[in-house]
Amino acid sequence: MEAQFSHLPVMVREVVELLLPVPTGLIVDCTVGGGGHAAALLDARPDWSLLGIDRDADAVAAARDRLAGHGTRARVVHGRFEELGDVVARHGEGERVMGILMDLGVSSAQLDRGDRGFSYRHDAPLDMRMDARQELTAADVVNTYDEADLARIIAHHGEERYARRIARAVVAARPLHSTRQLAEVVRDAIPAAARRRGGKHPARRTFQAIRMEVNRELPNLAAGLDESVHLLGPGGRVLVLAYHSLEDRQVKRAFARWAGEDDEPPPGRLPVEPRARRQPLVRVLTRRPRRPGAEEVAANPRARSARLRAAERLDVATGARP
Ligand code: SAH
Repeated sequence: MEAQFSHLPVMVREVVELLLPVPTGLIVDCTVGGGGHAAALLDARPDWSLLGIDRDADAVAAARDRLAGHGTRARVVHGRFEELGDVVARHGEGERVMGILMDLGVSSAQLDRGDRGFSYRHDAPLDMRMDARQELTAADVVNTYDEADLARIIAHHGEERYARRIARAVVAARPLHSTRQLAEVVRDAIPAAARRRGGKHPARRTFQAIRMEVNRELPNLAAGLDESVHLLGPGGRVLVLAYHSLEDRQVKRAFARWAGEDDEPPPGRLPVEPRARRQPLVRVLTRRPRRPGAEEVAANPRARSARLRAAERLDVATGARP
């Protein structure tokens, strides 16, 4: 049931505009997906080359196809942005990195591939892995995590207020094998009056939470951001499109930290240098995140929650970590 990889790139005009001023060099698209942003970037500046990365083999194939017309200016590799430094060292051919783009979350193509278990709209085995080489699946999370962990994940990643009831119901219904079973258990755990809040499916938040857990999306973002800023040449820019408030908050804090504006240490680390001695690595280009226009949201519902932030690497002699 191989479908065409269909995904509309979000805020593509704003992404191109924010990258246009960077010097000649390599643009790294960390989440190349179907290659929508990548194609627009390659069209915008003939002096750029582009390295596309995706952890999903289907996306890699789709992006290679889409970008084939650009010849050697475009390379696409199967990889993970939390290992950005290694991937660029291996495949960047020594070019200076001048742009880094992360477009987070799942693609429409992943949601539409019913057999991969991302969506409550199709009945499928509980999988949800973006990278099929990974072991942990949604079935493992649903059937083996203890109730308290499940409740915590659903509440935190899903921002779901009935997380404890849902976790209890899931544990009672084990073993669960399919997305349909999970969607039904979640729906039945939510009080009838609250099931259709905002016109959304009652299982939407729980599915999102489990997907974020299976794919370690929040920790991976933290790791990818940490690597990105050190790869950029002076005047290079990093852009992140986030679709979840927890992700956007991480991006905002990372940028503030690099700009020397925020003393809060990253989770699990001690503050090493006092504020005054820390040299800014970047200038933040978006005080507030950019949002899509009403027209784009009407044409592409995936754009609705998008927040775009950008920062520019300063010319600092030290390669030291902030
Ligand atoms: N910008 C793309 C769409 C990206 S959708 C376009 O214009 O077509 C997000 C993509 O990020 C998905 O294909 C997903 O597989 C990929 N992805 C998510 N987390 C990743 C990670 N840690 N490393 C690499 N790719 C990742």
